[in-house]
Formats: sequence, C-alpha cells, structure tokens
Amino acid sequence: METVIKDNWTQIIGFLRDNYDVLPVLYRTWFEPLEVISESETDVVVAVDESKQGDITSLLDRRYRIPLQTSIVAITDREVTVNFVTRNLSSEKTDGVSSYYNNSEEQKQKALEEKYPWLRLGHSFDNFVVSSSNSLAHAAAVAVAENPNGQVYNPLFLYSGPGLGKTHLMHSISRHIIEHHPEYKIRYTTSENFTNDVIESMRESKQNSTALPNLREKYRNVDVLLIDDIQFIIGKQSTLQEFFHTFEALFQTGKQLVISSDKPPSELEGLEDRYKTRFSSGLPVDIQPPDYETAMAILQIKQEQSDVKLEDDILSYIAENARHSIRELEGAYNKVILYSKLSRPGEQISKEMAENALKDFISDNQETMLTADYIIDVVCNHFNVDKERLLSERRTEDITVPRQICMYLCSQYTSLTQKVIAEKLNRRNHTTVNHGVNKIKDDMLVDNELQQTITILKKKLNVN
Ligand code: ADP
Ligand code: MG
Repeated sequence: METVIKDNWTQIIGFLRDNYDVLPVLYRTWFEPLEVISESETDVVVAVDESKQGDITSLLDRRYRIPLQTSIVAITDREVTVNFVTRNLSSEKTDGVSSYYNNSEEQKQKALEEKYPWLRLGHSFDNFVVSSSNSLAHAAAVAVAENPNGQVYNPLFLYSGPGLGKTHLMHSISRHIIEHHPEYKIRYTTSENFTNDVIESMRESKQNSTALPNLREKYRNVDVLLIDDIQFIIGKQSTLQEFFHTFEALFQTGKQLVISSDKPPSELEGLEDRYKTRFSSGLPVDIQPPDYETAMAILQIKQEQSDVKLEDDILSYIAENARHSIRELEGAYNKVILYSKLSRPGEQISKEMAENALKDFISDNQETMLTADYIIDVVCNHFNVDKERLLSERRTEDITVPRQICMYLCSQYTSLTQKVIAEKLNRRNHTTVNHGVNKIKDDMLVDNELQQTITILKKKLNVN
C-alpha cells in the first residue's frame, strides 16, 4: 500500500489549518486525532476516532472535504477523493484495511475487558500524574507491578482520604502485571464484593458442599491479590475471619498482596493487633491531597481528551478551589464543562460563569476544605488561649480541653489521619489523639456545656 498521504499527513493538516483559518481548538479536536487508514491513486480513507471525537464524519465531509483535498494536492501533488469514516465502521466500508484493526488498541482493550471484567481500563500508570503528594505510593506501586513476586513490599498497604488515587493505582498495578507478567494469576476485589462472596458462599454451603472450597479457590489460587477499601470489612466478623485466612494462606506462600484503606493499619479500629502488625510489615504508604501544580496537570490531561477547551485562568480557578481530592477536582471540572456546553455555541466560558458553576460545589464542600491550622486558630481564639501554649507540653486543664477539642474537630471535619493530627498539635503519639477524640465524644454525651461549646465552634467553622 502506498503511504504518501499518510507520510505527509501532519504537513497536510498543517496546510489546511494555515490556509483555511481553522481555529486552534478545532484543529486539536477535529484534525489531530484523524488517521489515514488506506490510500490509493484515487481515494484516501480517513478515520474519525468516534470515542474521542464523537461522530463528526458528516460534518467534516460537508465542511472540509474539498479543503482537505486541496491541501493534499498542495503537499503531495495527488488528486484524490477524501472519504471520512468512523473507526468502528471503517473496516466494513473499505477494503484492504481490516487487518489494520486486528491488533489495534481497541481490540486489545476488548480482549482485556473480556478476560478481566473487574479491570478499569481508564486507570493506568500512563495517566497517573505523579507529584510530591503521591510519589512514594506511585513508586511503590510501580515496584510491585514490575516484580509481583511478594519479595519487594508485601503487603503493599496504600492509604489516604477518599478520591486521592488508591483505586487508580491498584488498577494500574493490575494492568501492568497483566500486560508484562501474564504468567501471574491476579485478582482484584473490593471489600464489598469480597463480603458478598463470603456471605453467599456461607448461605450456599448449607446445600452445596463445594461452595466454600470454591470461594477459597477463587481468592487463594492466585499469585497476586489486591483488595480495595479494607476498612469496610472491619467489624464484619465472619468476612474478616475469611479475609485473614486468605491473607495468611497467600502471605505464607510468598504471594503478593496489595491492600488499600482510608487509614493506616495502626488506626483501623477493631482490628486485632497481630493483624495491624501484619498489615504494617510490608510498606504502608499514604497519599496526600494534590498541590496546585498537580491539580493543574490533571486538569490539563483532561483537557487533552475533551472537545471543550477552557482558558487557563478557568482551569487555575478550578485547581485552586477544588483540590481537596482528585475526585472533587474532576467533579468540579466536569461541572464547568457541562455549563459551557449549555451556554450559547461559540461563547467562551468566563471566569464568572465558572464561579457560578462551582458555587454550590465549593460551599457544599466547605467543611472538607478546613485545615488543622485553621481549626486550631479558631479554637484558640474561642477559648482565648495562646496557640503556643496549646501546642506546648503543658497539661493544665485550661489548655487540655481546648487541645482535645481541636483533636475532635480535626478528626471530624478534615480527612487527616490521627498521625497527622498528632503532628499538627505537636503531640508525639497518635494514641493521644485517639484518646482525646474519644474523651470529647464521651463527655459530650453527659456534658451540656461542652455540647454547646462544640455547637458554637462548629458554627464558627461553618460546618454542620
Ligand atoms: P480513591 O480510591 O483513593 O478514593 P480513586 O483512585 O478512585 O481514589 O481516584 C479518584 C479519581 O481521581 C479517579 O477518577 C482517578 O482516576 C483520579 N486520580 C486520582 N489520582 C490521580 C492522579 N495522580 N493522576 C490522575 N488521575 C488521578
Ligand atoms: Mg477507591
């Protein structure tokens, strides 16, 4: 097959852009993703990637067929007819191109989907933005994905507040192992699915003696087991038991385990100490909320995949105001995009429109934007105590109670771990925080005055 047009494609669409006044945004979204899939003396077939671009074939045909043909003549001296097809249909519409699809990314994805229905294809190391807030977790995940032999970090224990990338990393590990170490048997599960499986097999086991062995086969006959959001099975005794047995069976035979949780092992209440120790024995590693640069980088990646382009100051506004978690960031971004799609065609979204779009969003999430420092300031101010004294070693009652109130409020209205709260309050040990939080909770039940104080402080902090 000749490839003159394909070989010169970048120059051809460049010519089109420069001579037909194609807006940069349209150039990026309409023309850059196009692909020449076959060409002859008389015809060229150009494919639209429907998943990215939508079905714009007839639009391109109407508005750009002639300009594109002219550009082809200008660059290659060829007079051909341009045919636009969508990727999915193109193999039917054109001859001699079906082999092109045999090993296409799309087919590979399909095969993966069939074999690993639990795998989220959108989550891979390729689209995980690495920054100081998650670099350790990312490095550990890559190390395990490259050597999933239970020797590197076992278990790898990822923890963070919600929406910061644990699940994304777990799928990235899975994907990498599937693609690079196909000899490893791998299974990912959420603790909810695991719980359902356990309950179901217990119920079935009354009639069916193979139910429990089947469950064990499913989770123990693997080389790598990833379990997401382990905190949800704590407190469910029989599920927890089954999980521990699974964990032990795999751990003892050197199989790789990856666990995620909203807290570090030491803070998982209701977990026996020997399992806290076990879970901590490999590498417990946390992920922090993204900084501004990371948030911008994530938004820019989303922009590349989107047909609506936002100005940098709008992106920056979103990044500044919704980076408590990446899920929140994505939600805010999607909302602005939706607003701009609803606005008049051709109208650029302004900063005011973005602010308006995010108004509810941001105030809804105000409690989650509280920082420990702010809480400490408000509490000190309320009790009229010196911040320095509050953070000091002293234990007189006039500062012990405000300090414990800080612990309580931080634990309720930020996603900080007890360890971090301890650090913020200058305490050596997170158990002090645990004790303080429980003390306030207990006292509030019997102490009306304390209850009132907390209510007032919540008002001052603007949380419900
Ligand atoms: P968690 O499991 O910690 O609650 P997720 O892994 O579900 O969080 O992440 C929430 C969303 O943010 C997902 O859409 C995920 O793809 C995205 N995300 C998280 N971290 C990153 C990152 N570092 N780079 C790109 N996207 C990210
Ligand atoms: Mg998750």
